[in-house]
Amino acid sequence: MAKDYFAILGVSKEATPEEIKRAYRKRARDLHPDVNPDPSAQEQFKEVSTAYEVLTDPEKRRIVDLGGDPYAPGGGPGAGAGGFSGFGGFGDIMDAFFGGGGSTRQRRSRVRPGADALLGVELSLAEVAFGTTKEFVVDTAILCDACQGAGTAAGTSPAECGTCQGTGEIQAVQRTMLGQMMVSRECHVCHGTGVVIPSPCPKCGGDGRVRSRRTVSAKIPAGVEDGMRIRLASQGEVGPGGGPAGDLYLEINQLPHDIFTREGDDLHCRVSLPMTSAALGTTLDLVNLDESVETLDIKAGTQSGDKITLRGKGVPRLRSSQRGSLVVHLEVKTPVRLDEEQEELLRQLAKLRGEEGEASTKANPTGGLFSRMRDAFNGR
Ligand SMILES: [Zn+2]
Ligand SMILES: [Zn+2]
Repeated sequence: MAKDYFAILGVSKEATPEEIKRAYRKRARDLHPDVNPDPSAQEQFKEVSTAYEVLTDPEKRRIVDLGGDPYAPGGGPGAGAGGFSGFGGFGDIMDAFFGGGGSTRQRRSRVRPGADALLGVELSLAEVAFGTTKEFVVDTAILCDACQGAGTAAGTSPAECGTCQGTGEIQAVQRTMLGQMMVSRECHVCHGTGVVIPSPCPKCGGDGRVRSRRTVSAKIPAGVEDGMRIRLASQGEVGPGGGPAGDLYLEINQLPHDIFTREGDDLHCRVSLPMTSAALGTTLDLVNLDESVETLDIKAGTQSGDKITLRGKGVPRLRSSQRGSLVVHLEVKTPVRLDEEQEELLRQLAKLRGEEGEASTKANPTGGLFSRMRDAFNGR
């Protein structure tokens, strides 16, 4: 059974060499063993690399177009056995793709994966709680558009390093206590790659990448928290020689809110009530963090420190449709600056309630002086 090399790369049977190249570049970036340690990714990387090699080799492509498989044993018209023996390793595949020359095992690839990048982003409490899509300015290395990562000036190509004859290392004789020894060192001219660029690209100086500020759009999911990092695959630094880009991480820095604080999935806020409302009971409207209006039912006899918990009105749980609670902490305000009439009314009230004079253990049927002191200490 012939393998569907087009499906492996995710391209149509009519795909142009340019489309195949682009599809391979994209898949290779995500699956390259240096950036994706997952063992299944390595297998897939081999597979997409084989597919790329087959579809860009006119001879092998012809076999595929005739319905055969150049790597299946006896699998198609004119198919030769081969399997993976034609490859010398991932470095060779990357070289084959990125335009490096022939290679030996020890050589370092000139094309290397890029580093991850980290960007701290400031978001409001509402943005982290309910999610948002936002644009951020990122400063990373990107692929040089003048040479497409090759590092060479237009119309030129890399050449074998003359110092090491393309091996990437230099042999030298060193005298030691045990006698003379041959040692090999990384070639200082080509940095072990075996390749030099005689005419570097004027835009990137041969590095295959340039620094650039650009805007990336990122979706911040609802329910993320301060300090969390959001990964944007392949949006980090492009590697030397135009190698596959690392990932970009956005680290969330949540700005404080004037009214609400967050504890896990719960929101907390404080509401002050006049003593009379607390005593008589009332309703009041509160604008929640999501701008919805919640009606609070303040029961008669509400004490300072009482809480009202509204379930499902807090922060959405990450990757869930559920929400935490909104906890409203009530604070009773004792009236100050009483005028004569108000003072007289309060005195009358105190008299009616038998609360005149000093506090005494008898005056409080629910516990006495010590109990009240303890309540005060506990903030109730
Ligand atoms: Zn360039
Ligand atoms: Zn060299």
